[in-house]
Order: sequence, then C-alpha cells, then structure tokens
Amino acid sequence: MARLEIRQVSKIFADHTAVSDVSLTVNDGEFLVLLGPSGCGKSTLLRMIAGLDLPTYGDIVIGDRVATRLQPKDRNIAMVFQNYALYPHLTVYENIAFPLRVRGADSRLVDEKVQWAAGLVGLSKLLKRKPRQMSGGERQRTALARSLVRDPDVFLLDEPLSNLDAKLRHSAREELRQFQDRVGVTSVYVTHDQVEAMGLGDRIVVMQAGTVRQIGTPEEIYQHPADTFVATFMGSPPMNLVSQGDVTLGFRPESFLPEGNYPAGSDITRISFRVHRVEYLGGDRLLYGHVSGNLPETPAIARIPSSVAYSPVLGSETAFAVASGDLRRFETA
Ligand code: ATP
Repeated sequence: MARLEIRQVSKIFADHTAVSDVSLTVNDGEFLVLLGPSGCGKSTLLRMIAGLDLPTYGDIVIGDRVATRLQPKDRNIAMVFQNYALYPHLTVYENIAFPLRVRGADSRLVDEKVQWAAGLVGLSKLLKRKPRQMSGGERQRTALARSLVRDPDVFLLDEPLSNLDAKLRHSAREELRQFQDRVGVTSVYVTHDQVEAMGLGDRIVVMQAGTVRQIGTPEEIYQHPADTFVATFMGSPPMNLVSQGDVTLGFRPESFLPEGNYPAGSDITRISFRVHRVEYLGGDRLLYGHVSGNLPETPAIARIPSSVAYSPVLGSETAFAVASGDLRRFETA
C-alpha cells in the first residue's frame, strides 16, 4: 500500500490543455473518486498516474518514490478498465494467474495467490469457468482478482462498471466497496456518474475543464458545494440556483417544501413557488415550476416525499420555504 501524490500536474496535447495544474493527495488505503463531465481530464490524469501518459509539467509520487518518468511496469500499480480485457480462451483460474505466469512464478505460489485473490472477490467456486460463462459482475471480479495477485501499491479503475446494466451496476458497486474495505488498497476511481461517486468514494475530486473544482467527502461536496458548477453537477435533479445581483442562492429540491411542513417558529426563508407540472417517482414527487414573488422569476424543482399530503394547484403561487440552514450562497461569477 502507498500514498499517492499529484504535484502541480498539467498535460497539454498540442494546443489543448487536458489537465491544468492539478495537485492532490490520495492517502494510504483511501478510495478517491475522480468525477466530472466528459472531457474534463479525469482519464488523462489516471493515465499519467499509470505511466501511460507523461505529464507536461509536475510530478507523480507513489509511496516515497517520484514516479513521473517510471515505466508503467515499474510503478507497482494495477489498472482495471471498462472492458476488463479477460482472455476468452482461458479459465477464470488462468486469467487470474496470468500476471504471475508471465513473471515465471512457480506453480505452488501461483496456486496460493490465485486462491487467495479468488477468495477475496468471492470467485472460489467459479475458477473453472470461462469468461463467456459468467455475468458482467463476475467478469469484473475476475479482473479485480487478476490485478490483486500482483500486490499493487495503488489500484486505478477507469469506469469499470459502465458496461453493466443498472441493476448489476448497483450490486457490483456494493461489491467493489466491500472489497476495497477488506483489502484497503489505495484506489483512484474515474467516473462521470455522481451517484457512483457518492456511493464509492471516501473523498471525491470534482473536475471541470482540466481543473479541480472541489475535493471533499461525498457529504461535504453535496451539502457544501464550493461553487455553482459543483452545486449543479452533484445531485439529480440539481440544486436550484437563483441569481440576485452579485449573489446566487442555492437550495436542493428536497430542502424546498410547502411552508406548512416546517414547525412553527423555525428559522425558514420563504420562497413563492408556482408549480407547472408534477412527476410521480414512487417514493417522491418532483414538482417543476418557477420561484417568483420575492425572488427573480427562475425555474426550480421541489422534491416532496409521497408520504407528505400535498396537492399543488397548478399555475398558482404557493408559499414554499427552505430551512435557512439549507440555503447556500455563491458569489455570482
Ligand atoms: P470521458 O469521461 O469522456 O472519458 P475524460 O474526463 O476522461 O472524459 P479525457 O479523456 O481525460 O477526459 O480528455 C480530456 C481532454 O483531452 C478532452 O478534451 C480530450 O479530447 C483531450 N485529449 C485526450 N487525449 C488526447 C490526445 N491523445 N490528444 C489530444 N487530445 C486529447
């Protein structure tokens, strides 16, 4: 295991800056998620950590070694990609054993390591299967086990769940997290899916256009976004934003409720809301409309638990409110 440090790293491709002056530290045993929209530079950053791309500026430190110019094979990292890259003609056992066979390890050691890694990811009973006889999640675990047998210092994962359907993705995410808790390898995980990032990360790095906008725990990032980009990127539907001159007010849809839902005397900020449309989601309803009255007319969304008795009169102004502690203020750029 090792600590990973990214020191003022930039990557410039011809005339395009893909990563711009990024500094961050991944603690020993930490699961760090790089999150951001397509093209924000997260894969490029991961590739530089792996040694597949060379930074234009800056350094990558793994453990106590400056690794910036080391070959990928000399970094003791393991990388798991989207497609798992398993060998279809080999059994699960031989797929997992592959990195050890390449190194010429003797067969007793190979067997010991394969059994250990397969046990960790719950594949002990499937070792004789071929990849085509397994589910997407089992293939993913095979790829994880294969990376594990090399005892990597750092695990790099580039959207490893993106090929799975929604249900499997959820269980694979859970398994991945349990696995990481058990093995405790320092991990960097790339995704553009904020739900995945929140569920997996000890901390999340939110990136945009090659730069870091915020680093924090899922809760810090969700509750206290550093700016309006992070505020709208995290959360679905996103945080409501209402601009008032040089201040932008932000409040999450679930913190925006009919005024009657707040106990008398609580510290609330009243906001008029005109509902245009209701979407029923089962546990919740989404109310789409506009805030108005005391604030500039702006589109907004409220998320109300279905258990709350409330029938909006479409098109008419209603008294809504946000607990003042849930109101965020951003400087308008
Ligand atoms: P995605 O989620 O779509 O994979 P990403 O955040 O991982 O996106 P990167 O793949 O890191 O983004 O790319 C960052 C930017 O750098 C993009 O604008 C991309 O077009 C550009 N880029 C990446 N690789 C190269 C390259 N080899 N040459 C030129 N530009 C590149």
